[in-house]
Amino acid sequence: MTRQLKNIVILGGGSAGWMTAAALSSLLNPEHVSVILIESEEIGTISVGEATIPDIINFNRMLGIEEDDFMRATEATFKLGIEFIDWGRKGSAYIHPFGSHGVDMNGIDFHHYWLHSRAGGNRRPIDDYSLCALAARDNRFALPDPDPRKPGSHMRYAYHFDATLYARYLRGYAEARGVRRVEGKVETIRQNPDSGYVTQLSLDHGQTVEGDLFFDCTGFRALLIEKTLGVAYHDWSHWLPCDSALAVACEHAGPITPYTRSAARPAGWQWRIPTQRRTGNGHIYSRAHMDDETAHDLLVTSLPGAMLGTPRQIRFKAGRRDSFWTKNVIAIGLSAGFLEPLESTSLYLIQEGVSRFITLYPDASLPDIVRDEYNRHMRVEFEQVRDFIILHYRTTERDDTSFWTYCRTMPIPDSLQHKIALFHEVGRAFRYEDELFSKASWIAVFLGQGILPKTYDPIVAALPPKMVSESLDSMRAAMLKTVGGMLPHGDFLRQYCPASLP
Ligand code: FAD
Repeated sequence: MTRQLKNIVILGGGSAGWMTAAALSSLLNPEHVSVILIESEEIGTISVGEATIPDIINFNRMLGIEEDDFMRATEATFKLGIEFIDWGRKGSAYIHPFGSHGVDMNGIDFHHYWLHSRAGGNRRPIDDYSLCALAARDNRFALPDPDPRKPGSHMRYAYHFDATLYARYLRGYAEARGVRRVEGKVETIRQNPDSGYVTQLSLDHGQTVEGDLFFDCTGFRALLIEKTLGVAYHDWSHWLPCDSALAVACEHAGPITPYTRSAARPAGWQWRIPTQRRTGNGHIYSRAHMDDETAHDLLVTSLPGAMLGTPRQIRFKAGRRDSFWTKNVIAIGLSAGFLEPLESTSLYLIQEGVSRFITLYPDASLPDIVRDEYNRHMRVEFEQVRDFIILHYRTTERDDTSFWTYCRTMPIPDSLQHKIALFHEVGRAFRYEDELFSKASWIAVFLGQGILPKTYDPIVAALPPKMVSESLDSMRAAMLKTVGGMLPHGDFLRQYCPASLP
């Protein structure tokens, strides 16, 4: 007979801990399986993680969360993509929008038509044919039109929100569904002497908590997966040399933009993320190429509005855990690995970790084959996201600082080398093995960074240029008309989900 898991323990109450708790509580009956979350207010959480990608909508739907309620409670705004400034070269700007550019025709990707019109003299960037990018630049927003024949059906979006409020919101959700929260600091961890499985956690105030399965959501501390089980970390800092961040909020100056901004800096980049009440800012940099003081000064002198509080320093190392699930411990969140927030993927990787666990939900014997499959899947997820982030650095033309020269010339993973070469030679991009980033995302960043394919689809190349230009013009006109009918983003938020009073 199947022996069921009876006691699941989540150690850590940051975004990873509460996302895991919320997802499990939506599925498990608390009368059959106890879920306990332990967190320490004294240690606190990392409290950054404000930008997301559209997949978070699926996570919220899985939980049955109402969007407007969630956005009010987390002071959220909408996000239609990311604007990259000075990345390909100084003075350049492009948007990596959610959703695609234009409309594919005759089974051929839209960008081939754009390349053809470009060869005929069209100087419009490909962003000019993306509904999300056009709405973002005009600071407008509308929910997707349910009619698939309308251009507005191509809207895709995610959120910017306050990460602390997000964890608090999910805590309310999970506790209402039977998750028990225990406050305190875990000091001693007991393991089965034969199997090495974790069996019991002892807290500073004397309480002990036992479990069959433990989620390590302790952030960079990695208390169970690393400090207890000794699982190694794959260091990717030779590909992603940034290892520090300074984060600070400021007052809004100007309209609340429905997109994240990422501006390249001499030794890294700076984010700007508007939530309803404030703008989050952060400078990510490599200490091998810039000292903390210079990084601090660059951040505080380039804030768009008055600074709120003082910048907080965070250190990290890009990489992933050798094995995410070892014995009866699963690492989720920062304990599992870290990829800088350039494409806002960390909360997604948490969501993917807990969703994959649910789809593999094991009995109490925790079969090796289930663990292996989980580890295989998460390794591929991390590596695919890693490649997409490296792409932004490696394809720069910048040579104005030692940092950019390093990035431009560094060796890269073969998997990425192949993708870049394929696009550069013949303009082709594919989505491999259900990877997170779509073909449209790869194309947006390839072209945005300045990689122009040497050739493009021969069938498109044989078409009369005038005919192609006319069809691009009519697509763009329909998109502009749709954007013109949208509300300014700030007005939309005020009507749909104004933040509740603090
Ligand atoms: P934490 O928030 O650090 O939580 C750890 C928890 O463990 C805390 O509750 C702590 O109290 C508890 N704990 C630790 N040790 C003990 C102990 N001994 N006993 C009891 N409790 C303990 N992600 C995005 O998706 N988008 C972004 O825009 C984004 N921006 C980021 C910017 C920066 C600079 C950084 C560093 C990260 C960013 N992230 C972003 C990542 C995101 O912040 C994290 O993935 C997410 O917050 C998950 O963190 P966590 O829950 O794993 O860790």
